[in-house]
Amino acid sequence: MGRTVVVLGGGISGLAACYHLSRAPRPPKVVLVEGSPRLGGWIRSVQGPDGAIFELGPRGIRPAGALGARTLLMVSLGDSSLEADHIISAIPASALSELLPAEAAPLAGVLRTISAVSVAVVNLQYRGARLPVQGFGHLVPSAEDPGVLGIVYDSVAFPEQDGSPPGLRVTVMLGGSWLQTLAAGGALSQELFQQQAQEAAATQLGLKEPPSHCLVHLHKNCIPQYTVGHWQKLEAAKQFLAAQRLPLTLAGASYEGVAVNDCIESGRQAAFSVLGTEPHPDPHTLQP
Ligand SMILES: Cc1cc2nc3c(=O)[nH]c(=O)nc-3n(C[C@H](O)[C@H](O)[C@H](O)COP(=O)(O)OP(=O)(O)OC[C@H]3O[C@@H](n4cnc5c(N)ncnc54)[C@H](O)[C@@H]3O)c2cc1C
Repeated sequence: MGRTVVVLGGGISGLAACYHLSRAPRPPKVVLVEGSPRLGGWIRSVQGPDGAIFELGPRGIRPAGALGARTLLMVSLGDSSLEADHIISAIPASALSELLPAEAAPLAGVLRTISAVSVAVVNLQYRGARLPVQGFGHLVPSAEDPGVLGIVYDSVAFPEQDGSPPGLRVTVMLGGSWLQTLAAGGALSQELFQQQAQEAAATQLGLKEPPSHCLVHLHKNCIPQYTVGHWQKLEAAKQFLAAQRLPLTLAGASYEGVAVNDCIESGRQAAFSVLGTEPHPDPHTLQP
């Protein structure tokens, strides 16, 4: 009988692991366990009434969800249990720490300390407006504004997603100590995020008219923080897994890079470590 590999988490890391597992010469049975009703994790696009597309998460590389989803096997577990030869965890470290059995308490203790910060994402669209500058966007130093992390000029990179008739799209990212203080005081509100974002767009880009469309999303604990001692934590986790011979491999943004590219690579590495073969360039994705 073939092996069964469970992949926990259907974000880009888990999807990449599934993809590479399923491409093995003798692929194991792959079971993807995702806790939410959709795949993609933080990667999410929504369409506005005029057809414009708004990215709620990353936009640095284009989502390839349909291609990934076609190769995936979705299993609804309900209350039942599932036997597997190996598990790839591609969920946040803190979420995994809650699932581990008592015997793995030392590992859970390490994973629990890998925290993440929240970001409020405000997508704005302006009819008949023009940007004073071109580029991917700009970052704002916390000394200048403790709340605005930066503004992405979505229309510059992807003008074809501006809708019909086209409207200028920008995304304001809010976070930092400002957001943490608001959260601590229980003062988070969509109206406040929208107001803060519109003010930033007005003062920093001259977009003074009210937006024609606005989306506000608070992504809680979405960006893992690699604080001092992070690599020692990873080493401790690896040593525990090796010493206990646990059939568990860690992948995802919590460990060795939060960028989409890092997450895809972590899923690839996890798949190859389970399969027992060396990672090699994928001829379909790496062009000379
Ligand atoms: C607003 C924002 C903008 C970003 N911009 C960029 C960018 O421009 N470029 C870039 O490279 N990166 C960017 N990033 C970072 C990148 O998008 C993320 O680090 C990456 O998508 C994380 O992927 P992941 O699969 O590791 O984790 P996630 O996307 O968090 O996926 C984990 C999945 O596990 C599921 N899950 C959690 N707990 C359980 C459980 N107990 N059981 C089952 N399932 C569970 C979740 O529902 C989720 O689907 C951005 C991130 C954010 C939030």
